Amino acid sequence: MVISKRKFFKVLVSSTLTLLFPIKAILAATKKIINPNLSKEQKNIMFNDGTERPFTSDLLKEKRKGFYHCANCGNKLFVSTAKFDSGTGWPSFSESLPGAFKTKIDYSFGMERVEYHCAKCGAHHGHVFNDGLKESGKRFCNNGLCLIFKPE
Ligand SMILES: [Zn+2]
Repeated sequence: MVISKRKFFKVLVSSTLTLLFPIKAILAATKKIINPNLSKEQKNIMFNDGTERPFTSDLLKEKRKGFYHCANCGNKLFVSTAKFDSGTGWPSFSESLPGAFKTKIDYSFGMERVEYHCAKCGAHHGHVFNDGLKESGKRFCNNGLCLIFKPE
């Protein structure tokens, strides 16, 4: 097999980077701003792992039937029947739709938490905890600004 020097170095550099920064490299490759109308705050949460202030989301009061979509790419993430009031100040769900998210371990703030991001565009949405009240035992703690609700 003939491989050009240029290609060889490109492969060498990218595989070295992947070895050094595996998760960051994978995420960087998949994270993508698709919606040009995202606000500064939305971009900070979705692409800089920010968090919105608790009890600020209009979606906390949302009780209608429908689906919650990714504000960046439109990916369908949650069904309204999975939503519950966790009292935490962030929209909470007992389960996501199959394949909606990918997860990684987040060690920031001296804690070990499971961060999840949109499987389609890579945007950060929140953290999932094992203290949910419904059968699944899960609590998806989602930033409201990352979601768009579409009533049925
Ligand atoms: Zn998305």
